[in-house]
Amino acid sequence: MDNRSRRIDLHLHTTHSDGSLPPAEVLALAQKAGVSALAITDHDILDGIPEAMEAGARLGIEVIPGIEISSRYEDAELHILGYYVDWKDPELQSRLTQLRASRHRRNPLIVAKLNELGLALTYQEVQELAGTESVGRPHIARVLMEKGYVQSAKEAFTRYLADGAPAYVPRELPGPAEAIAWIRAARGVPVLAHPVWAKQNEAGLLRLCEELKAHGLMGIEVHYSTHKPQQTADYLNIAKRLDLLITGGSDFHGVTKPDIEVGIGRGNLKVPEKLLEPLKKAAAAF
Ligand code: AMP
Ligand code: ZN
Ligand code: FE
Ligand code: FE
Repeated sequence: MDNRSRRIDLHLHTTHSDGSLPPAEVLALAQKAGVSALAITDHDILDGIPEAMEAGARLGIEVIPGIEISSRYEDAELHILGYYVDWKDPELQSRLTQLRASRHRRNPLIVAKLNELGLALTYQEVQELAGTESVGRPHIARVLMEKGYVQSAKEAFTRYLADGAPAYVPRELPGPAEAIAWIRAARGVPVLAHPVWAKQNEAGLLRLCEELKAHGLMGIEVHYSTHKPQQTADYLNIAKRLDLLITGGSDFHGVTKPDIEVGIGRGNLKVPEKLLEPLKKAAAAF
């Protein structure tokens, strides 16, 4: 594969959060897809980074340490990605420990609602399946799949787990400015993930990004598995107008998002390798 056809993938989940494959297996898939550099961006946890770096060194894939932190903004969830964070930073580690604790407060409440709806499962079963401290709704979805209550994670979210569904319980979340500040404090580059989730039109998103930039936001995830071409064009436009870094990734999770593949998303994702250099420079400038 020549250099022009190389791609990167800056948004990947592993078994350290709600992905279904361990870092080394994600890296193996990345190699097959022709990915030259990638970021592991597990929710609220950095434990997958060393294993990913080891596999990356073996396979010749550059591994960027990353994180994804959920935040609340009005009635939407904004996810903030952090690139090149110092993954040993004790302050960031302590923030993430607190976020994982908030997951453990919320998840049993979701399980209780599911029990009330007649579905038999325990939080212990969810934690055993998860095998990590960063337990999320996709793990609950997988338990529901294994027990035959639903056929897919999508069905689990639509029928039970999504915001507005009968077993939904909100989680205590930081505001986006806090998430951004935590990442910056660990010398990471904060980037707004999947802007399509922000539930804004182009003008609204422009204003939102302007506001977040004032709080230290440095980039926007323009390229994403589920972005339509017009959305990609709109986000690119916003990035250019506000002088924000352009990033992109698949948001691969394995079985809970079975239509999304490492490096290629739903088949038409291509995050150009040339986006990496500006991101790296921004991180090096701290
Ligand atoms: P949590 O972090 O526990 O609130 O769970 C949210 C995560 O669930 C998101 O980051 C997504 O990875 C995943 N998710 C949200 N909606 C869906 C869906 N419809 N199907 C599969 N996974 C989803
Ligand atoms: Zn996830
Ligand atoms: Fe996300
Ligand atoms: Fe994600």
